[in-house]
Amino acid sequence: MEVTRRDFLRYSASAAGGTALAGLVGSGVPLGPVVAQAQELRIKDAKVTPSICPYCSVGCATLVHTVNGQIVNIEGDPRSPHNEGTLCPKGAAIFQLHVNPNRPTQVLHRAPGAAEWEVWNIDRAMDRVAALVKTTRDETFIERLPNGKLVNMTPAVFALGGATLEIEFNHVQQKLMRGLGVVAIENQARI
Ligand code: SF4
Repeated sequence: MEVTRRDFLRYSASAAGGTALAGLVGSGVPLGPVVAQAQELRIKDAKVTPSICPYCSVGCATLVHTVNGQIVNIEGDPRSPHNEGTLCPKGAAIFQLHVNPNRPTQVLHRAPGAAEWEVWNIDRAMDRVAALVKTTRDETFIERLPNGKLVNMTPAVFALGGATLEIEFNHVQQKLMRGLGVVAIENQARI
């Protein structure tokens, strides 16, 4: 059965309270051609940019579709030898990493014992983090072990990175942490 664009819209409208696809499923219409058409319309004339899923160290290849500089779709790159166009559920939701009205865009701080979150200026937040790291490091710094061995380290600070951090950040982060004497440094992407 061939489904025209008009059919697609009709079935969509008939799915009261459901999705367009739900309406088609209920009608018994084979979805393959409709999905292909909807997909084609969504990314029609879009610019395609190869990229990488940022969520884990597997590094699945993606294709990012943009229209007028705005991301309209992200999917697996079928040319990739290791993910072959597929993405896990987390990777399949990368679009929402960029386009998501629920994504926090401000620094929120909740003071110890407080019930409410307070919006902080980013500079104030960074200064606060830096001050706490410096204080903790200075208060726990171990220059020498009891046997006299020079270690210049702190066991009180732990640096944890994620795969969304890029190479440049991790390079600087490593230098900063090692300069402070932090020895517990870990990253999900195993830098
Ligand atoms: S799609 Fe999933 S498995 Fe692939 S890199 Fe992203 S999070 Fe990792």
